[in-house]
Amino acid sequence: MRAVLLGPPGAGKGTQAIRLVKKYGVPQISTGDIFRKNIKEGTELGKKAQEYMNAGGLVPDELVVDLVKDRLMQEDCANGYLLDGFPRTIAQAEQLDEFLGELGTKLDAVINFEVGYDTLMERLTGRRLCKACGASYHIKNFPPKTEGICDKCGGELIQRADDTAETAMKRIEVYEESTAPLIEYYTKSGVLKNFDAEKDPKEVFEDIVRECGE
Ligand code: AMP
Repeated sequence: MRAVLLGPPGAGKGTQAIRLVKKYGVPQISTGDIFRKNIKEGTELGKKAQEYMNAGGLVPDELVVDLVKDRLMQEDCANGYLLDGFPRTIAQAEQLDEFLGELGTKLDAVINFEVGYDTLMERLTGRRLCKACGASYHIKNFPPKTEGICDKCGGELIQRADDTAETAMKRIEVYEESTAPLIEYYTKSGVLKNFDAEKDPKEVFEDIVRECGE
């Protein structure tokens, strides 16, 4: 399955990606994760991306598109992939379409997560991640057994720099302005599938599998 996970920050794309990777046996390609890894490793790309990310803005298209193209050329993407957090602008979507055309493939589905503003803010500001293994928690909806400690590996739980209320608000704004137009873009190409992502993650997953095939 070649799919895009589309939706505002906090919609649950990453959570569903973990389940969908297992179900369909294709890799998750999260541009946000790739940038965070580069920041951690102190690469040039990381240095460039960091200031945009911390301000809640988008990293410029030219830094994102080539990176995704390279990733899609890797062997593990031969039978499909889940793009998580890409494309985020019409220009990115157009370049992706062009690239897939050159490869002689196309997207099977764009999975669109629909969630209201208040839920997004609550999910983003309550999110905590394990510094060591990356496992994700929520202070209210999915708390760890011991506050501040990862159940899986005992690592320290931290808040993402861009999950503070002010930056989260900005990210949602940026989504509305730059990314939401992709809903119309992909509706026109006939690949968009809408999902109510206010539901429990398990139900959202079942809805996706029902629509996208076993
Ligand atoms: P995410 O983990 O998907 O929430 O992404 C975190 C941040 O990385 C975003 O707020 C952007 O600053 C940056 N980012 C990730 N993917 C993209 C993209 N496709 N285009 C531009 N910026 C991106």
